[in-house]
Amino acid sequence: MLKRIYILCDMLNESQKGQLRTALETERARLIENAKDGLQFSMNRERNIGRDSIDESMEEEIFSTELRLRDREKFLLGKIDEALRRIEENTINECEDCAEEIGFKRLLARPVTTYCIDCKEEREREEQSQAQQAGRSGGGSREDIGGSDELSGGNEE
Ligand SMILES: [Zn+2]
Repeated sequence: MLKRIYILCDMLNESQKGQLRTALETERARLIENAKDGLQFSMNRERNIGRDSIDESMEEEIFSTELRLRDREKFLLGKIDEALRRIEENTINECEDCAEEIGFKRLLARPVTTYCIDCKEEREREEQSQAQQAGRSGGGSREDIGGSDELSGGNEE
């Protein structure tokens, strides 16, 4: 007798997984191309200027631009690799927060997401209100925010 095991989240079918894989791999190829272009650009610039005339500030500027690019790309590449791994593990459509299913349409639009739309929106609201609170308190330390909200002496008549 065949016994079927059902899990909470429906697994994506092979065609859906294939679509996500393609989207992620396209994005990865694009990022790597970008990184190459950026590298070539700054290398050419260095050559054109000539080593003798490069002053320290210029060198620093090239260096920091490159670092920024690489940081961002490294971060995104990491997210893409994670998402590809989650496809193999069949957890790509499982929300990291509430374990509910992430809709396939949403995944296709944002294959690196790890939250369902509800959790994502909730997070964004939290971030926004945190940013607003931080703005009001003039960027003070975070521990001060949300402390005592004493309304002393409320009996005014
Ligand atoms: Zn969720």
